[in-house]
Amino acid sequence: MTLNFETDYLVKELKKRKPKKILVQLAEGIKQNATEFAPIFEKLGIEAIFSGETEWGACAPAIQEAEALGVDLLVHFGHAPFFDAKFPILYIEVRDELDLTPLLKKSLPFLKKYKKIGFSYSIQHRHDIEKVKDFYKKNKKQIMLSKKLGHVAYEGHIVGCQYAGLKSIENEVDCFVILGNQFHGMGAVLSVDKPVILIDVYNDKVMDLSGLRDKILKQRMASIEKFKKSKNVGIIVEIKPGQKFGSPKYLVDRIKEQGKNPILITMNELTPDKILNFYNIDAFVELACPRIAIDDFAKYPRTIITFKEALVALGIKSWKEMLRIGLV
Ligand code: SF4
Repeated sequence: MTLNFETDYLVKELKKRKPKKILVQLAEGIKQNATEFAPIFEKLGIEAIFSGETEWGACAPAIQEAEALGVDLLVHFGHAPFFDAKFPILYIEVRDELDLTPLLKKSLPFLKKYKKIGFSYSIQHRHDIEKVKDFYKKNKKQIMLSKKLGHVAYEGHIVGCQYAGLKSIENEVDCFVILGNQFHGMGAVLSVDKPVILIDVYNDKVMDLSGLRDKILKQRMASIEKFKKSKNVGIIVEIKPGQKFGSPKYLVDRIKEQGKNPILITMNELTPDKILNFYNIDAFVELACPRIAIDDFAKYPRTIITFKEALVALGIKSWKEMLRIGLV
């Protein structure tokens, strides 16, 4: 796998925007490339500082860090824009230069029963989408890209917490194919009730993920039931700019109405060790990335659910209704 960092575009934009000092934010898998970028900035006479903090997603451009450091521009590698920020940000999406043909061929036996395919891709594969469409067309499949809804940047683009674009075409397709990784595939399984085939480019395999749905939903239901029995509830709000999944005030009011004691807790980044000392809190609702509660629940010492799951636990939405909307 070869990564294309779109260096020409980077240099062109930097020459145009003329920053004197920048903060560079690299996705985890490309932090090792920091030393390759440093000479580019130096040659342009730009003072560059690399963020050592974890870069989880486009929901969390390091705006506070950038402001604290007094830089003119934040250069964010590895994601597409997620929201309109007031701070100047240059997004470098990073292309994965990979011949997808062998994996697309591997996907065909999984698609034997299906003709109309809903298709979504992670951002690193956007440049390949026309080739993908041609491949499936030649193999007599109809491709429909997921819609550009919510915080995705393009038609077909998939983000781990944004599945409205897939839901919107669910009734028009026989199955979904996700080109990306397990994280994106799992989110799709929880959001649509059609078979989900994952083309996992990072592990070089194709998988039918449909069987995962019931297993995960059962686990989520168990967490919701535990939450119902809790008395003291922590509502965790992160300060990352794009992670605002639900209204804390609304939740506090609804939880009080049920005779529970809610407290609001803020964090830069939610981790299992940070909730340990709140030892008299029985259960938590996190309004940060919904995938924390869903994917990492086993790492947490107490019950932890998402905003949407809290709506179910509090009887505001039924489980059936939430599944129709999509759990993620
Ligand atoms: S909220 Fe979670 S899933 Fe959504 S972009 Fe951020 S890290 Fe990814």
